[in-house]
Amino acid sequence: MTETLFTRIINGEIPSEFIYKDDLCVCIRDISPSAPTHVLIIPRKPIPRLADAVAEDREILGHLMLKAGEIARQLGVGDAFRLVINNGADAGQTVFHLHLHLLAGKTFSESTLGM
Ligand code: 5GP
Repeated sequence: MTETLFTRIINGEIPSEFIYKDDLCVCIRDISPSAPTHVLIIPRKPIPRLADAVAEDREILGHLMLKAGEIARQLGVGDAFRLVINNGADAGQTVFHLHLHLLAGKTFSESTLGM
């Protein structure tokens, strides 16, 4: 299977600054930010889409959520941030390696879930 872009970043094949990393996930800044704070929380396991996750991925999925809160606090945005997962091309997913977008630093409209 061809490595995903994010697997290549995780493996250091594409130089990138890691905001956080552990045995299950890494966090990097989005190359094209949609908000003043926009980071990606990425599991090391290359699950293509959230809908492809299976029961054995429960620990990874929970871990990503817990780390999102911790990373938000670390970045000073723990009181107001948004998490987005795009699942599938029609939902805007462009990199088929599951990731959470953590966005903060701007006021999000109440009427839209857009990034
Ligand atoms: P998606 O559209 O799949 O939900 O999100 C993919 C995200 O990855 C996009 O927000 C895009 O800006 C970001 N991205 C694409 N290529 C790179 C890259 O090489 N480095 C980083 N840090 N982010 C990237």
